[in-house]
Amino acid sequence: MDRYMIESPHEPEDCDKIIREIHTAGYLHHFEWGCHDGVHCGWAFVETDNVEHAKQMIPWEVREKARIVKVENFEKVDKIHPHKKS
Ligand SMILES: [Zn+2]
Repeated sequence: MDRYMIESPHEPEDCDKIIREIHTAGYLHHFEWGCHDGVHCGWAFVETDNVEHAKQMIPWEVREKARIVKVENFEKVDKIHPHKKS
């Protein structure tokens, strides 16, 4: 399984709508939000083998603005040479 970070910003006026859509889609438990600190963005870490699956967690209205990054924990790789493939 690969691990992806989803960073999905939205406009302040779209807060309720976006969060409701993610809730309806069943992905709300993956996300944490900066809205109440004035940063209208949601972050999630998800495990999937398919980056398209990660993309589908983001409502289509804001999908273009989202950033999806494949992330890994170097504890599991090689702490001293993180660029080396093990
Ligand atoms: Zn918001």
